[in-house]
Amino acid sequence: MENTILSDAHMYYIATTSKTVADATRDLEIAVQKHGFGVLHVYDLKEMLTRKGHPLNAECRIYEVCNPKQASLVLQRDIRLNAALPCRISVFEDGESTKIGTILPTAMLSMLSSDRELASIAANVEAVIKTIIDETAGTAWSAARQTLLARRASLAAEVASGAAKLKADREGVLGNVPDSGELANANLVLDVDRAEVERDVTELAAVDAALQRIDTGAYGMCVTCREAIQPTRLVQLPEATRCLPCQSETERLAPAHTRL
Ligand SMILES: [Zn+2]
Repeated sequence: MENTILSDAHMYYIATTSKTVADATRDLEIAVQKHGFGVLHVYDLKEMLTRKGHPLNAECRIYEVCNPKQASLVLQRDIRLNAALPCRISVFEDGESTKIGTILPTAMLSMLSSDRELASIAANVEAVIKTIIDETAGTAWSAARQTLLARRASLAAEVASGAAKLKADREGVLGNVPDSGELANANLVLDVDRAEVERDVTELAAVDAALQRIDTGAYGMCVTCREAIQPTRLVQLPEATRCLPCQSETERLAPAHTRL
């Protein structure tokens, strides 16, 4: 399964999947709901055109999807944009492969308005729609997975060298018979060694848990409110388990809580 952006990458976002159209549409409906969108209507173009006497050989289902909050923000800002709503995601056969695609909301908006606030809403919607398409195609989180695997490798190396340093420092202390001043100093060194190893081990566990969530399909969903974590937050902190508002609230209630 690979992700292919076809023709003009600024206009379209189209992923190729090895899934059948039936499997892809089922997974699309799950992903749409998970990310706070609803399906308003599904057009089955093959069935419609064939019924009208103009048979279409390829399967082609078009989903009209909408996030009520974002739609309302857009319409309050510029009511004329109703003609460009709702968003459409299509699942279709193209030769031997199944594709899932959309016209990018930012591209569509740039033809209709130069309002910067609307552009930022469109960018948010677009990030979520791309995630929905990637999840449906089965190619979601490949970048996050790579970042996490690289982080895992460097943390594992740090833990190993930290543990070796701790061992060497401890043997150094035991090898000499220290006076009380030296002993306090040596203990401090050992404490610092230990704290560093512990911090790396904790982070390693968080990275492993994130990789596991990717495998089980739970990745990217806030453990507190069950809504999707902002894509930009996941780029900055791929092991995040909470969305930003829930994280801030958790830290406010328990300041000693980890940053995850
Ligand atoms: Zn949340």
